[in-house]
Amino acid sequence: MRLPFFFIVLIYLWPDLTTSQDTSLGQESQPELLQQLLQQLQQTSPQTIDQEILNAAGPEAFNSDVSDPIHQEFKIQGDIVFKYGELAGALQPEPAVHGGLVRKKRKTPQDLTKMWPNAEVLIAFDSRASFSPEERSLFQSALEQWQRKTCVRFRTPTINDIHQGRSFIFVQDGKGCSSPLGMNPMRETGIFKYQPLTLARPCRTRRIMMHEVGHSLGLIHEQSRSDRDSSVNVMWQNVPVHMRHNFQKFTEQVTNNRNTPYDYESLMHYGPNAFTTNGAPTLRTLDASYQDRIGGFQEISRYDAMAISNMYNCGARMQPFIPPWWHRLLGRKKK
Ligand SMILES: [Zn+2]
Repeated sequence: MRLPFFFIVLIYLWPDLTTSQDTSLGQESQPELLQQLLQQLQQTSPQTIDQEILNAAGPEAFNSDVSDPIHQEFKIQGDIVFKYGELAGALQPEPAVHGGLVRKKRKTPQDLTKMWPNAEVLIAFDSRASFSPEERSLFQSALEQWQRKTCVRFRTPTINDIHQGRSFIFVQDGKGCSSPLGMNPMRETGIFKYQPLTLARPCRTRRIMMHEVGHSLGLIHEQSRSDRDSSVNVMWQNVPVHMRHNFQKFTEQVTNNRNTPYDYESLMHYGPNAFTTNGAPTLRTLDASYQDRIGGFQEISRYDAMAISNMYNCGARMQPFIPPWWHRLLGRKKK
């Protein structure tokens, strides 16, 4: 990252370094050039992650809670799957959502996010799903990104794991792109306990894969955090009534925000026009410089990674690498 930036600064300064006498040239165009180059550095995509998921899932996916009565499951916010009844009390009641009426909580909110024991995630492909070798390797690289930035580790379940009752993620074909939140073995077939990670063919991009795995590890959408109102405003007037539930915040007990600041650059953040029907923005960032950038980031952000490390209590493993000779040096000094 530093090297390209250095070159860009160099390119920007080049006329000054080489033709210092020519002060009239490009005084207005240089800041524009720098701005353009800086924009290229921001790693944003023209399509936001919610648009990408929506396009992959089809228009009905975001219309309302999508229910699957066979499995007693439903989907909220376009791509998070819950069992019936699981969400009761987990979302904050908001007058804008309920037409001025606030529903009474029926259940004490609790931390819904179940973590994978020892930060070890078991994951397998459904052999019936038609994933090409390229798609499998793309998925592998999405997992590697989470492994590289956090302490979470992925592996294929063994028959012993199954006999021990351990649950796993089952990567499958299906409608849209979706995942449950954290470890949630919502399905059972014989001795197999598993949770679906659904990737229809158009969902098989690296960014969507990393985003859905983010949910499987326990991350909610950034704009649903309990503290989001100090960073983004929901423009309720641009959200049709039947879509407003998608902007309900989770309660603090559910998410506790993982001791990280609100992160506009999160891979879990939707774009400024998510769930709009009139084309007008539904999210307004209080930091205006992010208005057109939220939802467009391509990589797992620093705070996405930190949230997972805090969740899995493995911040210590995220310390900078210290070479072994340094310990030997310290040991000698002690003596
Ligand atoms: Zn999502």
